[in-house]
Amino acid sequence: MKQFDQFINGKFVKSTSTGVTEVLNPCTEEVLSTIPKGSIQDANMAIDVAFHSQKKWRTLAAIERANFLNKMATIIRENRVFLAETLAAEQAKVIGLAQVEIDVTADYFDYNAGWARRIEGEIIQSDRRKEHIFLHKAPIGVAVGILPWNFPFFVMARKVAPSLVTGNSCVIKPSCVAPNTVMEFAKLIAGIGLPDGVLNFVCGAGATVGNALTSNPNTGIVSLTGSVYAGQKIMEAAAPNITKVSLELGGKAPAIVCADANLELAVNAVVNSKVIFSGQVCNCAERVYVEDSIYDEFMDRVTKKFNEVKVEDAFSTNNPDMSSMVSKAQIDKVEEMVNFAKKEGAEVVLGGNRSSQFDKGYFYQPTLLTNVTQNMQIIQEEVFGPVLPVMKFGSLDEAIALANDCEYGLTSSIFSENFNKVMHAADSLEFGETYINREHFEAIQGFHAGWKKSGLGGADGKHGMEEYLQTKVIYAQYQ
Ligand code: NAD
Repeated sequence: MKQFDQFINGKFVKSTSTGVTEVLNPCTEEVLSTIPKGSIQDANMAIDVAFHSQKKWRTLAAIERANFLNKMATIIRENRVFLAETLAAEQAKVIGLAQVEIDVTADYFDYNAGWARRIEGEIIQSDRRKEHIFLHKAPIGVAVGILPWNFPFFVMARKVAPSLVTGNSCVIKPSCVAPNTVMEFAKLIAGIGLPDGVLNFVCGAGATVGNALTSNPNTGIVSLTGSVYAGQKIMEAAAPNITKVSLELGGKAPAIVCADANLELAVNAVVNSKVIFSGQVCNCAERVYVEDSIYDEFMDRVTKKFNEVKVEDAFSTNNPDMSSMVSKAQIDKVEEMVNFAKKEGAEVVLGGNRSSQFDKGYFYQPTLLTNVTQNMQIIQEEVFGPVLPVMKFGSLDEAIALANDCEYGLTSSIFSENFNKVMHAADSLEFGETYINREHFEAIQGFHAGWKKSGLGGADGKHGMEEYLQTKVIYAQYQ
């Protein structure tokens, strides 16, 4: 069993706390590792070294900083199988998908390194003679990245890569549920020559360590990927110092399937999106609205496809579609929400229970629900499990209104072959992303940003990198 320490100032150091948290393999319930419970002192120490190291780090040429990102990408690729196995073991992500996450993370570092020569300011015309107004983009200082358990490795890169290339130093707090791959990365990069203190990894609970990282006056920006609740707590903790926050929070993605959709494409996309990683994906289809004239055919096809979903151990060579849920807490939550939906009148077409196929682990059956209404909890709140509620609609405007009737605004999708319809929907859906005739997954050069309670600011691409920059205007008057 592995024991991870905190990674602060370029070294693994013991936490000032005594306790540890066990990290389980969700499929087998075996203990894989321990991480420190962490302490407020650990958090403050990490911010302190990051604060001091940033003063020099920001003076490096951007391309020199980018070279470290390229080295990180190389190290990830050299260790891609080991990292994928670590990821699959700690969170029951099927090994094929775990490998994709590792490989995309390497690409993410290289992509962000490519911004080094493109961080640009502006020269603005002055109203005065012999004056230039220079608008510079400057790093903010210490960037804190707080990670969820669902894509812990990729989301780590989403915080580390843009913050380092823009000249910030960084402190990462992994989720206690799935910290192993991130802590293995800390071990791998310890030898690449990164100046001490520029990148630190501190384990611990959100309420203590996460709160201390957020409320430290030397923290410049906090970027969280997590629940709405954690986002609210982080905004509160950031408020006294007016610390910038960037929040990627929960979602309740609607998929609208119109009568003129390519039905095979729509069914495949919706079902794949719902079962990938057991539905524990912030932008997977959480509710489906189907035009009433094709509802029966859609249900027949979706039921057939759901019946074919293979649920197995994450390391199965049988190419499973999904595996265990990540934790007991997660399966308990899903079970409770489905039971409540049943009480409210939902009809279970398939699944609706824990799987009895496995002795250990947190396996939930792929679940299809009908007879649901717009005001039910299962339609309004994020389930984060392999549970698909389906409703009918009459007109496209009705579907758009139902989709928008939700406090989340992360992602949405529409399936139709009619250009006018999809463009009308894309303009009317109140979500940071709308996917047309495809499943929900974003590109590293896009901009992943939630509206409403799904977040503030965003990640990826040029705009994601600019989250880590602040502007400075210099008025240069000459004689
Ligand atoms: P979570 O909110 O429970 O935890 C996320 C992180 O926040 C953890 O590291 C946790 O320790 C920390 N945290 C909790 N309370 C805190 C506090 N008071 N101060 C500072 N940090 C605190 O979320 P989770 O269960 O790990 O992840 C699942 C959630 O993340 C879902 O709601 C999902 O939709 C969301 N998510 C969103 C995106 C996105 O891109 N929008 C991506 C992945 C996951």
